[in-house]
Amino acid sequence: MSTYLFAHIDKILAKIKSTPKNFLFLDYDGTLVPIAPKPNQALLAQDKRDLLALLCQQFTVAIMTGRSLEEIKKIISIPEIILAGNHGFEIFSPWGSWVHPEARGFQKVISGLATSLEEALKPFLGAWVENKGLTLSVHYRLVKERGEEKIKSIFYHTIEGHKEKVRVTLGKKVLEIRPNVPWDKGKAVERLSKLYEVPQGHRIYMGDDETDEDAFRALKEDITILVGQKDTTAAKYWVKDTTEVWLFLKNLRENR
Ligand SMILES: [Mg+2]
Repeated sequence: MSTYLFAHIDKILAKIKSTPKNFLFLDYDGTLVPIAPKPNQALLAQDKRDLLALLCQQFTVAIMTGRSLEEIKKIISIPEIILAGNHGFEIFSPWGSWVHPEARGFQKVISGLATSLEEALKPFLGAWVENKGLTLSVHYRLVKERGEEKIKSIFYHTIEGHKEKVRVTLGKKVLEIRPNVPWDKGKAVERLSKLYEVPQGHRIYMGDDETDEDAFRALKEDITILVGQKDTTAAKYWVKDTTEVWLFLKNLRENR
């Protein structure tokens, strides 16, 4: 059971202040911006970008998103920030870039599935396939509820022959396909922690979706925060919504 973050805010801020440098991990959609009907509508306001840039002076900051690296780069555009795209399969940082070596080989499978799914889902207005290179997403946020089950059944039917190569993960009104290699946001967080070591520092992770649970589990000893509420989560704390995320980030900035 997670507890409400702001009920313990003084204790948490004091803990963070006790170490000179800490690691701040942030999911994007549903965490920094509300989930928009279309992903290209979920933009970051300039004042928020400014605050993130300021936080980079205090923390090592990484954005952990399911979007492609290319896309999140365009949205964030802060030179000091680390970006982990495609659920951590690709990482960009001011000190170098990295792509999961095994995942590279799956691009052909992913693009083949993208084409098949696009074809199969054509009749559903409001559902669309996003090929993100190393992973792909089927979005169905704009589909009427009674169409959802049909989409899911077409989806699983289409990928039937590729079960050994790919893995399906579920998000908020999105079905995702990723290479069947043992990698997730939790593993990416561990890798980043090793690469950009913050000695004795605390790690803070904020995220709203199923794929963030891997990171919450990986960071058992740290400050994990779920955006929204769920019956079962590995996060220690929760905040209500993206507005409270920014309130917390402001608190972090003032806590220096
Ligand atoms: Mg999210």
